[in-house]
Amino acid sequence: MLEDTEDTEDTEDTGTAVDPAALLRGRGLQVTAQRLAVLRAVDARPHSTADDIDRAVRADLGAVSRQAVYDALAILTEKGLLRRIQPARSSARYESRVDDNHHHLICRTCGRTVDVDCAVGETPCLAAADDSGFQIDEAEVIFWGYCLDCTKETPTQEVLRRA
Ligand SMILES: [Zn+2]
Ligand SMILES: [Zn+2]
Repeated sequence: MLEDTEDTEDTEDTGTAVDPAALLRGRGLQVTAQRLAVLRAVDARPHSTADDIDRAVRADLGAVSRQAVYDALAILTEKGLLRRIQPARSSARYESRVDDNHHHLICRTCGRTVDVDCAVGETPCLAAADDSGFQIDEAEVIFWGYCLDCTKETPTQEVLRRA
């Protein structure tokens, strides 16, 4: 019966509902226009590169130095308000979905990056065959492949499938 009242645990996807200034203060960070703009920009464009965020923040605030945007990304990531992923052969990407252990699907052709829920939910969601004595706390998973659009545009794939 108690379970009915446990709605408070349901804090996922509160990106827009939570006051971003309160988020910053909650992590002991000073509230600045740059940091708020960076949070907004990442929220609006998950998996953006620092360059993308820089452009968005500049369009939003006007005169902001690139360094200020990069600094804001770094501190927000360090404080756990943003998550940084670093796919192979790509620039680092940022997202504001930080409260779960979700993974990513990345298209090898166009780089499209999509969230995918973790089938297990908690870290580490894969068991290492041999942990070599490490205390493992995370398994970083990226699913590589081809998105729907890129599969369509590759006729050879179609031929292969029919063969
Ligand atoms: Zn693609
Ligand atoms: Zn993501």
